[in-house]
Amino acid sequence: MKKQDDLILIHAPSIYDFRKLPIMHGPISDVVPSTPIFEMYPIGFTSLSEYLERKGFQVRIINVAMKMIKDPAFDAEALIRKLNPRAFGFDLHWMPHVQGSLALAEMAKRLHPETPVLFGGLSSTYFHEDLVQNYPFIDYVIRGDSTEGPMAMLLAAIRAKEPPRDVPNVTWRENGEMRVNPLSYVPETMDHIAIDYGHIMKKVVKYRDMTGYVPFTNWLEYPVTAVFTCRGCSYNCRTCGGSAYGFARYANRKKPAFRAPELLAEDIFRVCDHLNAPVMIIGDIYQAGDDYGERLLS
Ligand code: SF4
Repeated sequence: MKKQDDLILIHAPSIYDFRKLPIMHGPISDVVPSTPIFEMYPIGFTSLSEYLERKGFQVRIINVAMKMIKDPAFDAEALIRKLNPRAFGFDLHWMPHVQGSLALAEMAKRLHPETPVLFGGLSSTYFHEDLVQNYPFIDYVIRGDSTEGPMAMLLAAIRAKEPPRDVPNVTWRENGEMRVNPLSYVPETMDHIAIDYGHIMKKVVKYRDMTGYVPFTNWLEYPVTAVFTCRGCSYNCRTCGGSAYGFARYANRKKPAFRAPELLAEDIFRVCDHLNAPVMIIGDIYQAGDDYGERLLS
């Protein structure tokens, strides 16, 4: 018998349904590789899936935005109707993505009223109270820049059909009242997670779903990849929401969490094992000091 997925992470288009609406998108995706449909799902989906599988949870990613771009006849509602996970997860990939995410989350709850709907990521963290108070189809928001640990605890609570009273970083509703659990899970390093494209390839085979895992249009022709040195930042550039001040305010992060340079090098070698693709290192390799950069390059 097919095992039930614990979590299906759905990435929505910026607007649902962009195929039917006259839309002037404007320059909303000029600094990222995706189109204005925002079909690029967050790389956090990848590390979250890998981490949760290591902890015994079955996770699937479905890039619904990409499926809608690739196939004009693709029916998102029909797909979501036939899914049967223990929980649905959605990202809010910055402001242009809000309408699409909320529309598909509402659809998931309408089609599966008993299945919890979760939101996570930095935008969801910033707007956690608005999401839980104003959108009754959202059951949980997992806050912070590192949701792996709390997500595993929340999925365990969902499996056990227990309220997540002791799960850190979760904003939720109990008897109609909003509960804001402490934002106390703030790991000091990024050594517990991995960007593993091999994990994604196994998933493509398992679910026989290439399009649902493709990160953005044209990725198969130009499969650019990324690895990260850290979460958070030491600096305070005035226009940046990911500054030291920003992370302290909304993610309770007092200093950046760096990935050990040896593990970062392993991430890069793992990409090279699976793909003939450029690798972007996101983050200054000398931000943690000269020693970090030299260890990475040695
Ligand atoms: S992430 Fe970049 S732009 Fe933002 S504060 Fe740090 S150095 Fe500045």
